[in-house]
Amino acid sequence: MSSRKKGRSQKSKISIAALISAVIITVLVFFGLSGGFKPIVGKITKTVQNYSSSAVAVQNAAAESQAGSKTASQNKNLAVSFIDVGQGDSILIAREGHGMLIDAGTEESSDTVVNYIKSQKLSALDYCVGTHPHEDHIGGMDSVINSFSVGTLIMPDVTTNTKSFSDVLKSVQKRKLKITRPEPGKAYSFEGATLTVLAPNSAKYEDLNNYSVVIRLVFGNTSFLFTGDAQALSEKEMLAKGYTLKSDVLKVGHHGSKTSTSADFLKAVSPKYAVISAGKGNVYGLPAQSTVSRLTSAGVKLFRTDLDGTVVAITDGKTISFKTKAA
Ligand SMILES: [Zn+2]
Repeated sequence: MSSRKKGRSQKSKISIAALISAVIITVLVFFGLSGGFKPIVGKITKTVQNYSSSAVAVQNAAAESQAGSKTASQNKNLAVSFIDVGQGDSILIAREGHGMLIDAGTEESSDTVVNYIKSQKLSALDYCVGTHPHEDHIGGMDSVINSFSVGTLIMPDVTTNTKSFSDVLKSVQKRKLKITRPEPGKAYSFEGATLTVLAPNSAKYEDLNNYSVVIRLVFGNTSFLFTGDAQALSEKEMLAKGYTLKSDVLKVGHHGSKTSTSADFLKAVSPKYAVISAGKGNVYGLPAQSTVSRLTSAGVKLFRTDLDGTVVAITDGKTISFKTKAA
């Protein structure tokens, strides 16, 4: 019994094997004759290619996601960074890999400014503005000029005999730069934005702060006003000239000192947001409480670098959003 059974199962195994072989041979012959191998081979190659192209797609996706972590300055949006430089001013405006700097902080904050610009993956600055030759605005300017190639350098026509000022002049000479003097009413274009110089409007001032280059930037329907350390006198001149001052964001003049942001000027600007650049616990007691109150009682949303750290305003030309270190 057992041997018969064995014999039968061996027989059936053989016949199954024969059947499979026959099918395989038939298929092979059929495809061989009809040239069917090629398409199959082709198909396999194609599938492999598909795999490798999807590997490329993955790589691209990785590159894109890296690009997704693009710095604010590389985006289509315009980013305005009020860099925390302690008691001083430094504002980086950037869009799609192009940058513009208004003031460079103190000598002490040089590295902070240079590193911030580098962190935004910028190697050049289309514009660089030294609003006026006080150390808290141009102290880091020589480092900036030495570190990045600068397109147009705008500085007011006034000199001082400080080391920081002569350092700036040395770096200007070294890099063979030309200083462009601010002409009120003159407009410059920057990456789809328009910058208009609004001050200084006089040739001579007693107070160096009033030489401050004031710039209004318009991007789409949004606007910013950068006032340097311009004081009430310069504000009055800008009002008298009839310039459009109305702006969504005001960089508050002179670190929020009571000698700037006069009532009439604030009314003309009527900002929704204001940024005060000041150092934590600075010896000058800036910003002045009266200026802070004037702004907040006018319903202005106030940001302060001494409290918020670096403040970044981002606009798509329609709306403006703010990011602070704390947020
Ligand atoms: Zn200042």
